[in-house]
Amino acid sequence: MTRRITILGATGSIGRSTIALLEAAPKGEFAVEALVAGRDAAGLADAARRLRARVAVLADPAGLPALREALAGTGIEAAAGEAAVTEAASRPADWTMAAIVGAAGLGPTLAAIRRGGTLALANKEALVCAGEIVLREIRESGATLLPVDSEHNAIFQALDARDPAMVERIVLTASGGPFRLASEAEMRAATPEKALRHPVWSMGAKISVDSATMFNKGLEVIEAARLFPVPPERIEVLIHPQSTVHGMVQYADGSLLAQLGSPDMRTPIAHALAWPRRMRADVPRLDLAALGKLEFSAPDEARFPALRLAREALLAGAGVPTILNAANEVAVERFLARRLGFLDIARVVEATMERLGAPAVPGLEEVLALDAAARTEAGHIAGRLGLAA
Ligand code: NAD
Ligand code: MG
Repeated sequence: MTRRITILGATGSIGRSTIALLEAAPKGEFAVEALVAGRDAAGLADAARRLRARVAVLADPAGLPALREALAGTGIEAAAGEAAVTEAASRPADWTMAAIVGAAGLGPTLAAIRRGGTLALANKEALVCAGEIVLREIRESGATLLPVDSEHNAIFQALDARDPAMVERIVLTASGGPFRLASEAEMRAATPEKALRHPVWSMGAKISVDSATMFNKGLEVIEAARLFPVPPERIEVLIHPQSTVHGMVQYADGSLLAQLGSPDMRTPIAHALAWPRRMRADVPRLDLAALGKLEFSAPDEARFPALRLAREALLAGAGVPTILNAANEVAVERFLARRLGFLDIARVVEATMERLGAPAVPGLEEVLALDAAARTEAGHIAGRLGLAA
């Protein structure tokens, strides 16, 4: 039976990998309902034409004329703006890829969850910003949540849920990013170009900077705590430069189960796309003999305060993860615009957390208000630390 697919964040790195799998799948297996993107009208129109999507929606209303023109005569519906994005995410579909970057993805992701079906989640910021709300909506709608983030997908695959009490710890691996071996002086002088040059993965700009600061791993520790029945102190991070072992689960009998694969997001996406079955994916196969050895080491929390800050946010609970995520998004934007130094990213996050405390966030309204307040505060702090133009 043909399954109807919607992709939120269709023009991004994860969106394009998802599309590559759909295009390689046997005809008739998948049909595309909606494709959503931020502002790239040409890229969205191109994807919509190739996949014969029913609707293509841009978040940015300014791109609508270009999108309409690019889709003229195709019969593909074009729309733009926040309401149109929510409408697209709410349309009937069996499987949704949530791959908008940042907390901007929260609203559309929640709309897809409320509609039901399977939600393949790449947008970790939504889960960090509003974890309890996302999980509550999942329970209430009966939607199926599948983790796409490679570490979480690996742990999901290695997790034998029949006896959760026998899980001793879960391990998220981290490549260490471009500054794994850098001195503090090198990190202080890091430019966006250097931070974006990831040694292993090819990804969008925001997550690439997050990998360089290790806020990505910090967000992932919080993401793991939301997804898996494991207390925070049993979630470990290991540096593993080859990015071959993506995640592991340690059991009480001494077994350590791992998922290995090439650093290619098409594998976890294919896992989520075919689940509970499997499908073919034309990704490079691992050649362990050629690789020779796999290295592991403990992370350096002095050079990478992001891990400590994320653990603090997770333990504090309430609105602290919302604050951490929002402040990090603001700081990363300013760093990419060359208005903030690399090491100042963590300083902005820490200072914003100190300023805003741990307010309760019982509902979505409170989460969104706190997200906005944290952005304003982080902006002020970043302005004071910022580089002269
Ligand atoms: P990206 O920047 O390449 O793509 C982001 C997508 O979101 C684009 O399609 C963009 O148009 C869209 N978008 C941005 N703002 C929007 C808005 N306000 N409304 C609607 N659409 C909007 O990012 P990416 O690397 O593909 O990452 C996407 C998400 O997946 C992030 O949360 C990231 O942390 C997560 N993730 C990515 C990877 C990876 O390998 N790239 C791996 C694991 C997790
Ligand atoms: Mg990851």
